[in-house]
Amino acid sequence: MVTDSRTIDIITKSLKGNRRAIGKLITFVENNAARSSEIMKLIHPHTGHAHIVGITGAPGSGKSTLVGQLAQEYRRRDKTVGIVAVDPTSPFTGGALLGDRIRMQDLSTDRGVFIRSLASRGALGGLSRATDDVIKILDAAGKDVILVETVGAGQSEIEIMNIAYTVVIVAGPGQGDEIQTLKAGILEIGHIFVANKADLQGIEELVSNLREMLRYAGGDWKPPIVKTIALDGTGVGDLLDAIERHSSYLKTSDLLSKRQREKSETELERLVLARLKDQIFNDPTNKDELEKLIEKITNRELDPYSVAKRVISSYRKTNLRTNQENNT
Ligand code: GDP
Repeated sequence: MVTDSRTIDIITKSLKGNRRAIGKLITFVENNAARSSEIMKLIHPHTGHAHIVGITGAPGSGKSTLVGQLAQEYRRRDKTVGIVAVDPTSPFTGGALLGDRIRMQDLSTDRGVFIRSLASRGALGGLSRATDDVIKILDAAGKDVILVETVGAGQSEIEIMNIAYTVVIVAGPGQGDEIQTLKAGILEIGHIFVANKADLQGIEELVSNLREMLRYAGGDWKPPIVKTIALDGTGVGDLLDAIERHSSYLKTSDLLSKRQREKSETELERLVLARLKDQIFNDPTNKDELEKLIEKITNRELDPYSVAKRVISSYRKTNLRTNQENNT
Protein backbone atom coordinates (compact mmCIF):
# COMPACT_ATOMS: atom_id res chain seq x y z
CA MET A 1 0.00 0.00 0.00
CA VAL A 2 1.36 3.38 -0.97
CA THR A 3 0.89 6.16 1.52
CA ASP A 4 -0.68 9.15 -0.23
CA SER A 5 1.08 12.48 -0.67
CA ARG A 6 -1.06 14.30 1.87
CA THR A 7 -0.12 11.80 4.57
CA ILE A 8 3.53 12.01 3.55
CA ASP A 9 3.30 15.78 3.91
CA ILE A 10 1.88 15.46 7.44
CA ILE A 11 4.60 12.95 8.38
CA THR A 12 7.34 15.24 7.05
CA LYS A 13 6.00 18.23 8.98
CA SER A 14 5.53 16.13 12.10
CA LEU A 15 9.15 14.96 11.93
CA LYS A 16 10.15 18.64 11.92
CA GLY A 17 8.18 19.18 15.11
CA ASN A 18 5.15 21.00 13.67
CA ARG A 19 2.51 20.79 16.40
CA ARG A 20 -0.53 20.74 14.14
CA ALA A 21 1.00 17.98 12.04
CA ILE A 22 1.89 15.92 15.15
CA GLY A 23 -1.70 16.25 16.34
CA LYS A 24 -3.12 15.22 12.99
CA LEU A 25 -0.78 12.28 12.69
CA ILE A 26 -1.68 10.97 16.14
CA THR A 27 -5.40 11.29 15.42
CA PHE A 28 -4.94 9.53 12.11
CA VAL A 29 -3.04 6.63 13.65
CA GLU A 30 -5.59 6.33 16.45
CA ASN A 31 -8.53 6.21 14.07
CA ASN A 32 -7.04 4.05 11.34
CA ALA A 33 -5.68 0.93 12.95
CA ALA A 34 -5.46 -0.74 9.56
CA ARG A 35 -3.24 1.93 8.04
CA SER A 36 -1.27 2.87 11.12
CA SER A 37 1.49 0.35 10.45
CA GLU A 38 2.18 2.00 7.07
CA ILE A 39 2.78 5.27 8.88
CA MET A 40 4.60 3.85 11.89
CA LYS A 41 6.98 2.12 9.46
CA LEU A 42 8.10 5.54 8.26
CA ILE A 43 8.29 6.92 11.79
CA HIS A 44 10.37 4.10 13.26
CA PRO A 45 13.79 5.07 11.83
CA HIS A 46 13.49 8.49 13.49
CA THR A 47 12.81 7.16 16.99
CA GLY A 48 15.09 6.14 19.83
CA HIS A 49 16.35 9.57 20.93
CA ALA A 50 13.88 10.72 23.58
CA HIS A 51 14.20 9.85 27.23
CA ILE A 52 10.90 8.30 28.26
CA VAL A 53 9.84 8.96 31.83
CA GLY A 54 6.84 7.23 33.41
CA ILE A 55 5.03 9.02 36.23
CA THR A 56 2.63 6.92 38.25
CA GLY A 57 0.93 6.87 41.64
CA ALA A 58 -2.50 6.88 43.27
CA PRO A 59 -5.16 9.35 42.13
CA GLY A 60 -4.84 12.62 44.00
CA SER A 61 -1.16 12.22 44.84
CA GLY A 62 -0.40 15.21 42.61
CA LYS A 63 0.86 13.60 39.41
CA SER A 64 -0.77 16.02 36.97
CA THR A 65 0.39 19.05 38.91
CA LEU A 66 3.88 17.60 39.10
CA VAL A 67 4.01 16.72 35.40
CA GLY A 68 3.05 20.30 34.56
CA GLN A 69 5.81 21.63 36.80
CA LEU A 70 8.36 19.17 35.45
CA ALA A 71 7.55 20.20 31.89
CA GLN A 72 8.10 23.85 32.80
CA GLU A 73 11.41 23.01 34.45
CA TYR A 74 12.55 21.11 31.34
CA ARG A 75 11.61 24.11 29.22
CA ARG A 76 13.66 26.38 31.47
CA ARG A 77 16.56 24.05 30.69
CA ASP A 78 15.86 24.32 26.96
CA LYS A 79 14.53 20.82 26.52
CA THR A 80 11.44 20.04 24.45
CA VAL A 81 8.77 17.93 26.08
CA GLY A 82 6.04 15.53 25.03
CA ILE A 83 3.36 14.64 27.56
CA VAL A 84 1.20 11.56 27.20
CA ALA A 85 -1.50 11.29 29.84
CA VAL A 86 -3.05 7.84 29.96
CA ASP A 87 -6.25 7.79 31.92
CA PRO A 88 -7.89 4.41 32.29
CA THR A 89 -10.61 5.80 34.50
CA SER A 90 -11.85 8.80 32.55
CA PRO A 91 -14.57 7.19 30.42
CA PHE A 92 -16.26 5.91 33.56
CA THR A 93 -15.91 8.84 35.91
CA GLY A 94 -16.56 11.44 33.27
CA GLY A 95 -13.99 13.56 35.08
CA ALA A 96 -11.47 15.85 33.44
CA LEU A 97 -8.80 14.05 31.51
CA LEU A 98 -5.37 14.14 33.08
CA GLY A 99 -4.05 15.96 30.05
CA ASP A 100 -6.64 18.69 30.42
CA ARG A 101 -5.55 19.27 34.00
CA ILE A 102 -1.95 19.61 32.84
CA ARG A 103 -2.99 21.83 29.97
CA MET A 104 -4.38 24.35 32.40
CA GLN A 105 -0.90 25.07 33.69
CA ASP A 106 0.13 27.60 31.04
CA LEU A 107 1.72 24.96 28.87
CA SER A 108 -0.67 24.89 25.95
CA THR A 109 0.81 27.95 24.28
CA ASP A 110 4.40 26.73 24.49
CA ARG A 111 5.54 25.39 21.11
CA GLY A 112 8.16 23.23 22.81
CA VAL A 113 5.51 21.18 24.60
CA PHE A 114 3.03 18.73 23.11
CA ILE A 115 0.29 17.25 25.30
CA ARG A 116 -1.92 14.33 24.41
CA SER A 117 -4.50 12.53 26.54
CA LEU A 118 -5.42 8.94 25.91
CA ALA A 119 -8.37 7.27 27.50
CA SER A 120 -7.66 3.58 27.45
CA ARG A 121 -11.37 2.78 27.75
CA GLY A 122 -10.73 -0.08 30.08
CA ALA A 123 -9.05 -2.01 27.30
CA LEU A 124 -7.13 -5.02 28.48
CA GLY A 125 -3.62 -3.93 29.13
CA GLY A 126 -4.48 -0.31 29.96
CA LEU A 127 -1.58 1.25 28.14
CA SER A 128 -2.56 0.18 24.69
CA ARG A 129 -0.76 0.06 21.40
CA ALA A 130 -1.95 3.63 20.87
CA THR A 131 0.31 4.81 23.69
CA ASP A 132 3.31 3.21 22.03
CA ASP A 133 2.49 4.89 18.75
CA VAL A 134 1.99 8.31 20.31
CA ILE A 135 5.31 8.04 22.13
CA LYS A 136 7.06 7.09 18.90
CA ILE A 137 5.51 9.98 17.00
CA LEU A 138 6.63 12.44 19.68
CA ASP A 139 10.09 10.88 19.83
CA ALA A 140 10.45 11.12 16.04
CA ALA A 141 9.20 14.73 16.20
CA GLY A 142 12.34 15.52 18.19
CA LYS A 143 11.02 15.80 21.74
CA ASP A 144 13.94 15.45 24.17
CA VAL A 145 11.82 14.07 26.99
CA ILE A 146 8.48 12.27 26.97
CA LEU A 147 6.55 12.23 30.23
CA VAL A 148 4.00 9.42 30.36
CA GLU A 149 1.52 9.88 33.16
CA THR A 150 -0.65 6.97 34.27
CA VAL A 151 -2.93 6.45 37.22
CA GLY A 152 -1.58 3.82 39.52
CA ALA A 153 -4.38 1.38 38.89
CA GLY A 154 -3.09 -2.16 38.80
CA GLN A 155 -2.03 -3.23 35.37
CA SER A 156 -0.84 0.13 34.08
CA GLU A 157 1.92 0.30 36.68
CA ILE A 158 3.47 -2.83 35.36
CA GLU A 159 3.07 -1.66 31.80
CA ILE A 160 4.73 1.64 32.50
CA MET A 161 7.81 -0.39 33.30
CA ASN A 162 7.80 -1.77 29.75
CA ILE A 163 7.32 1.64 28.21
CA ALA A 164 9.44 4.05 30.26
CA TYR A 165 13.17 4.03 30.93
CA THR A 166 12.82 5.93 34.19
CA VAL A 167 9.80 5.29 36.39
CA VAL A 168 8.84 7.93 38.95
CA ILE A 169 6.39 6.94 41.69
CA VAL A 170 4.46 9.76 43.33
CA ALA A 171 2.97 9.48 46.81
CA GLY A 172 1.33 11.98 49.13
CA PRO A 173 1.10 12.09 52.92
CA GLY A 174 -1.81 10.57 54.74
CA GLN A 175 -2.42 7.88 52.18
CA GLY A 176 -1.77 4.86 54.35
CA ASP A 177 -3.35 2.52 51.82
CA GLU A 178 -1.06 3.81 49.20
CA ILE A 179 2.01 2.59 51.02
CA GLN A 180 0.39 -0.85 51.15
CA THR A 181 -0.17 -0.74 47.41
CA LEU A 182 3.39 0.38 46.91
CA LYS A 183 4.58 -2.57 48.93
CA ALA A 184 2.45 -4.90 46.87
CA GLY A 185 4.60 -4.64 43.79
CA ILE A 186 5.09 -1.14 42.59
CA LEU A 187 8.24 -0.87 44.66
CA GLU A 188 10.26 -3.00 42.28
CA ILE A 189 9.46 -0.86 39.29
CA GLY A 190 10.21 2.60 40.74
CA HIS A 191 13.55 4.27 40.03
CA ILE A 192 12.70 7.52 41.79
CA PHE A 193 10.19 8.08 44.58
CA VAL A 194 8.51 11.43 45.10
CA ALA A 195 7.07 12.44 48.45
CA ASN A 196 4.76 15.17 47.18
CA LYS A 197 2.73 17.68 49.20
CA ALA A 198 5.71 18.40 51.41
CA ASP A 199 3.76 21.41 52.69
CA LEU A 200 1.30 19.10 54.45
CA GLN A 201 1.44 17.30 57.76
CA GLY A 202 2.64 13.72 57.65
CA ILE A 203 5.33 14.29 55.06
CA GLU A 204 8.14 13.10 57.37
CA GLU A 205 6.19 9.95 58.16
CA LEU A 206 5.73 9.31 54.43
CA VAL A 207 9.43 9.82 53.79
CA SER A 208 10.45 7.47 56.59
CA ASN A 209 7.95 4.85 55.40
CA LEU A 210 9.37 5.08 51.91
CA ARG A 211 12.91 4.94 53.24
CA GLU A 212 12.07 1.83 55.24
CA MET A 213 10.54 0.18 52.18
CA LEU A 214 13.49 1.01 49.99
CA ARG A 215 16.07 -0.16 52.51
CA TYR A 216 16.38 -3.50 50.78
CA ALA A 217 16.03 -2.24 47.22
CA GLY A 218 18.75 -4.16 45.44
CA GLY A 219 20.97 -3.41 42.49
CA ASP A 220 23.44 -0.67 41.73
CA TRP A 221 20.78 1.99 41.47
CA LYS A 222 19.50 3.09 44.86
CA PRO A 223 16.14 4.79 44.26
CA PRO A 224 16.28 8.31 45.71
CA ILE A 225 13.36 9.90 47.56
CA VAL A 226 12.66 13.46 46.45
CA LYS A 227 10.44 15.82 48.45
CA THR A 228 8.31 18.18 46.36
CA ILE A 229 5.52 20.72 46.63
CA ALA A 230 4.02 20.40 43.17
CA LEU A 231 1.71 23.33 43.88
CA ASP A 232 4.55 25.87 43.86
CA GLY A 233 7.34 23.88 42.19
CA THR A 234 9.50 23.37 45.27
CA GLY A 235 11.84 20.41 44.74
CA VAL A 236 10.92 19.96 41.08
CA GLY A 237 14.46 20.92 40.05
CA ASP A 238 15.78 18.18 42.36
CA LEU A 239 13.39 15.70 40.78
CA LEU A 240 14.59 16.64 37.32
CA ASP A 241 18.20 16.24 38.47
CA ALA A 242 17.37 12.77 39.81
CA ILE A 243 15.80 11.82 36.48
CA GLU A 244 18.92 13.02 34.66
CA ARG A 245 21.12 11.02 37.00
CA HIS A 246 19.09 7.90 36.33
CA SER A 247 19.27 8.54 32.60
CA SER A 248 23.08 8.82 32.77
CA TYR A 249 23.23 5.71 34.90
CA LEU A 250 21.25 3.77 32.28
CA LYS A 251 23.58 4.97 29.54
CA THR A 252 26.87 4.32 31.32
CA SER A 253 25.81 0.93 32.67
CA ASP A 254 24.66 -0.29 29.23
CA LEU A 255 21.23 -0.90 30.71
CA LEU A 256 19.68 1.51 28.24
CA SER A 257 20.66 -0.53 25.21
CA LYS A 258 19.53 -3.67 27.00
CA ARG A 259 16.15 -2.08 27.70
CA GLN A 260 15.87 -0.87 24.10
CA ARG A 261 16.52 -4.39 22.87
CA GLU A 262 13.88 -5.77 25.25
CA LYS A 263 11.40 -3.21 23.99
CA SER A 264 12.06 -4.23 20.40
CA GLU A 265 11.57 -7.86 21.30
CA THR A 266 8.29 -7.19 23.12
CA GLU A 267 7.06 -5.11 20.24
CA LEU A 268 7.96 -7.70 17.63
CA GLU A 269 6.29 -10.41 19.68
CA ARG A 270 3.14 -8.33 20.01
CA LEU A 271 3.02 -7.62 16.29
CA VAL A 272 3.67 -11.21 15.28
CA LEU A 273 0.98 -12.50 17.63
CA ALA A 274 -1.53 -9.94 16.37
CA ARG A 275 -0.78 -10.84 12.76
CA LEU A 276 -0.96 -14.56 13.40
CA LYS A 277 -4.26 -14.21 15.17
CA ASP A 278 -5.60 -12.14 12.32
CA GLN A 279 -4.43 -14.62 9.69
CA ILE A 280 -5.99 -17.57 11.45
CA PHE A 281 -9.21 -16.14 12.82
CA ASN A 282 -10.03 -13.57 10.18
CA ASP A 283 -9.29 -15.79 7.19
CA PRO A 284 -12.68 -16.54 5.58
CA THR A 285 -11.47 -19.93 4.35
CA ASN A 286 -10.94 -20.98 7.98
CA LYS A 287 -14.34 -19.84 9.13
CA ASP A 288 -16.35 -23.05 8.79
CA GLU A 289 -13.66 -25.30 10.19
CA LEU A 290 -13.12 -23.02 13.16
CA GLU A 291 -16.86 -22.90 13.82
CA LYS A 292 -16.96 -26.69 13.93
CA LEU A 293 -14.00 -26.93 16.26
CA ILE A 294 -15.43 -24.33 18.61
CA GLU A 295 -18.73 -26.18 18.62
CA LYS A 296 -16.95 -29.41 19.54
CA ILE A 297 -15.08 -27.74 22.37
CA THR A 298 -18.38 -26.39 23.65
CA ASN A 299 -19.94 -29.88 23.44
CA ARG A 300 -16.96 -31.34 25.23
CA GLU A 301 -16.18 -33.57 22.24
CA LEU A 302 -12.80 -31.93 21.98
CA ASP A 303 -10.64 -30.01 24.42
CA PRO A 304 -9.30 -26.54 23.63
CA TYR A 305 -5.69 -27.54 24.37
CA SER A 306 -5.55 -30.15 21.63
CA VAL A 307 -7.48 -27.94 19.24
CA ALA A 308 -5.04 -25.06 19.77
CA LYS A 309 -2.18 -27.40 18.90
CA ARG A 310 -4.01 -28.65 15.85
CA VAL A 311 -4.83 -25.15 14.61
CA ILE A 312 -1.23 -24.06 14.92
CA SER A 313 0.16 -27.14 13.29
CA SER A 314 -2.21 -26.92 10.32
CA TYR A 315 -1.43 -23.22 10.03
CA ARG A 316 2.26 -24.08 9.84
CA LYS A 317 1.64 -26.75 7.20
CA THR A 318 -0.37 -24.50 4.92
CA ASN A 319 2.16 -21.82 5.48
CA LEU A 320 5.01 -24.12 4.49
CA ARG A 321 3.13 -25.24 1.45
CA THR A 322 2.46 -21.64 0.48
CA ASN A 323 6.14 -20.88 0.89
CA GLN A 324 7.09 -23.78 -1.38
CA GLU A 325 4.57 -22.69 -3.95
CA ASN A 326 5.99 -19.22 -3.82
CA ASN A 327 9.49 -20.56 -4.32
CA THR A 328 8.69 -22.60 -7.39
P1 GDP B 1 -3.31 13.39 40.39
O1 GDP B 1 -4.68 12.82 40.52
O2 GDP B 1 -2.30 12.48 41.00
O3 GDP B 1 -2.97 13.81 39.01
O4 GDP B 1 -3.28 14.70 41.32
P2 GDP B 1 -3.49 16.24 40.94
O5 GDP B 1 -2.27 16.80 40.34
O6 GDP B 1 -4.77 16.41 40.21
O7 GDP B 1 -3.61 16.84 42.41
C1 GDP B 1 -4.63 16.43 43.31
C2 GDP B 1 -4.90 17.56 44.30
O8 GDP B 1 -3.76 17.76 45.11
C3 GDP B 1 -5.16 18.87 43.60
O9 GDP B 1 -6.17 19.55 44.32
C4 GDP B 1 -3.84 19.59 43.70
O10 GDP B 1 -3.99 20.99 43.70
C5 GDP B 1 -3.32 19.10 45.03
N1 GDP B 1 -1.85 19.14 45.14
C6 GDP B 1 -0.96 18.72 44.21
N2 GDP B 1 0.30 18.91 44.66
C7 GDP B 1 0.18 19.45 45.90
C8 GDP B 1 1.14 19.88 46.89
O11 GDP B 1 2.34 19.80 46.70
N3 GDP B 1 0.63 20.35 48.05
C9 GDP B 1 -0.71 20.46 48.30
N4 GDP B 1 -1.10 20.94 49.47
N5 GDP B 1 -1.62 20.08 47.39
C10 GDP B 1 -1.19 19.57 46.21
